[in-house]
Amino acid sequence: MNNVRNVVILGSGCSGHTAALYTARANLKPLVIEGHEPGGQLSMTTLVENFPGFPEGIQGPELVENMRKQAARFGAEYQVGHVTSADLSTRPFKVHISHHVVHARTLIIASGASARWLGLPSEQALIGHGVSSCATCDGFFFSGKEIVVVGGGDSAMEEAIFLTRFATKVTLIHRRDQFRASKIMLERAQRNDKIHFLTDTVVEEVNDVSKKEVTSLRVRNLKTGDVYDFPTSALFLGIGHNPNAKMFEGQLDTDSDGYLKTKDNVFTRVPGVFACGDVQDRRYRQAITAAGSGCMAALEVEKFLEEHE
Ligand code: NAP
Repeated sequence: MNNVRNVVILGSGCSGHTAALYTARANLKPLVIEGHEPGGQLSMTTLVENFPGFPEGIQGPELVENMRKQAARFGAEYQVGHVTSADLSTRPFKVHISHHVVHARTLIIASGASARWLGLPSEQALIGHGVSSCATCDGFFFSGKEIVVVGGGDSAMEEAIFLTRFATKVTLIHRRDQFRASKIMLERAQRNDKIHFLTDTVVEEVNDVSKKEVTSLRVRNLKTGDVYDFPTSALFLGIGHNPNAKMFEGQLDTDSDGYLKTKDNVFTRVPGVFACGDVQDRRYRQAITAAGSGCMAALEVEKFLEEHE
């Protein structure tokens, strides 16, 4: 069959670019399908201070763009589009991208996970200006300030506890008075003097888009109906992530939340299909761990092609 690619990489975040760099340097001429959020979650953050090699930190979009340039320098090819479906039943695999089909001897799924947002226009407008979904990335910028975290699960508890390192006060806003979080995490948050709870409450608006910073939240108490402005310098969302793996439903194993299940870090149950980064990692979710697993997937692709072609 003509036009069969050695390796197609789905996603252009940290894990996808790293897989592209390694497979390009191995002369496999990878094709990267950029996906619906090119650059992944890094492209939505500001200063990244925990990626080794940048003593002064680096802007997330610049870091991910550098990764892309580095992979492209060795021959990685990038294509705009996202995968709508794939047939993994026979090799070469058939990958449907918008209006065409690509055939791939091996596949690296690096399609990431997307943070869940409340979906308010004001929230979207202030991402990177006081609104964030990543406490480890952005918490430091709010040292000495008051912060709000939204959510009632383990992620929200973890974020709230982490943010007390920087904030003078963290208010956890949750839409119910029952928490989905594990007992241990909830108790840890409840024992922390800096964490306050505002239950049965939802955020309806993030102020102030005109100032390009977060000054307060308009909130509603669902039991009393009271609507008022709650002052804060930052809003962190801890309402979960959605792994971008729906297109493989029925063909690859996922856990109950839709994360791809892998063995030995990057092997899916289909030989020749590897997964890396946040689409299969619900635990660490860091740029550096995503890059690391991208490297592992690339090395396994090389090995697989040597053994099978
Ligand atoms: P989760 O358990 O699904 O919790 C999401 C929380 O966000 C829920 O409290 C939910 O409220 C709330 N929420 C969802 N959509 C919302 C919306 N539109 N507006 C307001 N609130 C909304 O997600 P998670 O906390 O990310 O945890 C996911 C999994 O990872 C869990 O299995 C968790 O145990 C695990 N995890 C573990 C740790 C740890 O052990 N250290 C850390 C992080 C995550 P409702 O409760 O009302 O639905």
